[in-house]
Amino acid sequence: MLDGKCVFCGIIRGDIPAAKVYEDEKMCVFKDLEPKAAVHLLAVPKTHFKLLEEMGDSEREILAYMLGKIPQIARQNGCDNGYRLIINQGDDAGQTVFHLHIHILGGEKLGEM
Ligand code: AMP
Ligand code: ZN
Repeated sequence: MLDGKCVFCGIIRGDIPAAKVYEDEKMCVFKDLEPKAAVHLLAVPKTHFKLLEEMGDSEREILAYMLGKIPQIARQNGCDNGYRLIINQGDDAGQTVFHLHIHILGGEKLGEM
């Protein structure tokens, strides 16, 4: 379920410190170490998946669960005027941590994409 060498699995286990803002049995949300916006959170499933394409139909349900939780978590953490979600996939997207994660960016007017 968790990967011994993965930094986000280490955060989920509590072995690596992180500023967690939300946690339940299925997901964890913590502050990005190098924020790219006034609010920059990372939402991660408590199961190690590298990429969306690794997930089966039933495993993919965690994404719907996370998307259901994110609006309230975002609002409670300073994104009360909107936010942007990003899921980087692979090298061309610049993915650096290969544990599936959803970036939550907000707390200010974001630049156009
Ligand atoms: P990505 O480029 O989509 O793979 O995003 C990985 C993100 O994880 C980057 O924004 C990093 O700043 C962030 N990051 C890496 N290590 C940590 C950590 N230990 N705690 C919090 N955020 C981290
Ligand atoms: Zn992991």
